Amino acid sequence: MKPYFTRILPIKALQRIYPSRFFQLENCSLSELWNADKETEHMLPSPESKLGNLIHKLIDQVVRGTIKDLVGFENKFDEELEGIEYLWFEKHLIPLRRNIPDFEVKRQHCLNRVKEILNEKRVTSPVGEGKFRRRNGSNVWLESQDLLIGGYIDEINQFGPVLRIIDYKSGSVYDRDKNQLKAEYTTQLKLYAALYYDNFQTWPDELIIKQVDGNEIRVPFSQDECLALFQQAKNKFYYINQLISKNTDASKLATPSPANCKYCTYRPVCNFYHQNMEDISTEWAKVDLYGTLLEREALGNGKERILLQAKNKYYYIRGVSSRHPALNERSLTNIRIYNLSRDTKSNHFMENNTTTIYIDNPQVNR
Ligand code: SF4
Repeated sequence: MKPYFTRILPIKALQRIYPSRFFQLENCSLSELWNADKETEHMLPSPESKLGNLIHKLIDQVVRGTIKDLVGFENKFDEELEGIEYLWFEKHLIPLRRNIPDFEVKRQHCLNRVKEILNEKRVTSPVGEGKFRRRNGSNVWLESQDLLIGGYIDEINQFGPVLRIIDYKSGSVYDRDKNQLKAEYTTQLKLYAALYYDNFQTWPDELIIKQVDGNEIRVPFSQDECLALFQQAKNKFYYINQLISKNTDASKLATPSPANCKYCTYRPVCNFYHQNMEDISTEWAKVDLYGTLLEREALGNGKERILLQAKNKYYYIRGVSSRHPALNERSLTNIRIYNLSRDTKSNHFMENNTTTIYIDNPQVNR
């Protein structure tokens, strides 16, 4: 099937719980099950996360010593930036440096962090498996004794008597609305602390979020809450896999809500979102529309304006470029447009660089 048609994605059992993804798994299990399945592609662009993944990967190589100096880092950054793979709806984002507004600021922060790491001295225990698992170093793999929870920890280090678990973050670490640390990050670090205890019967002294500008933020924690989270994650693992093994209705796995769905890149294939879309996305800055394509008008600038009818409402969308393969289909009726910017009037919208169009495939609607 052509990739711009909506379709049903398979739902596969969880292999393990990753601390970095547990918060999302709690919020909407369906989205995390799709995300955990490497064969399931994302359905909407997210240029910031592409850059964030690259920065995270390269900083890790600096910490591990694979990249030894600043010149090496800059060369690798450019090389990897060139080599990023883009899905069909992302190709217009090349080059990424022109499509992320504060790209250079983020790169500079990253360079500052790399300089700092290169100046630090660190002690790393030898790499090992099984009972010789590493107790410190960078990119340390730890898994629970029962193998249900596991993940790579960015850095575990010992400064004198102080054992620190550090996680690097390239984007904002604060919750926009609540002005506090994002719960997904604090949850992740607390699970790392419990994982460490599960492996070595020792608790870390500090849990640290380190931003690319070098800023360190300490995450308060108690041993009891870390252990409770650890158990909660295991219970979730069994609960979800039991639902999947019994072929339970997927609605038990989905939790559609404005907060959960806003940045979910599986919105185009999620019927639970579509059933509630109007209620969920009303306040978002970027808007999703779903309806019948009534008219297409070519504009002087080579773009189009289209008229969409959704129920009894009419929507005008301007600045629609030719990059959407869906618009080349001969018989085009019901379409779904994601990530539109608001225009001057309430029923007017326009394309931006994350706007993506899918054709609604009625056979997959449940
Ligand atoms: S769109 Fe919403 S309900 Fe659907 S998978 Fe994503 S977060 Fe869950």
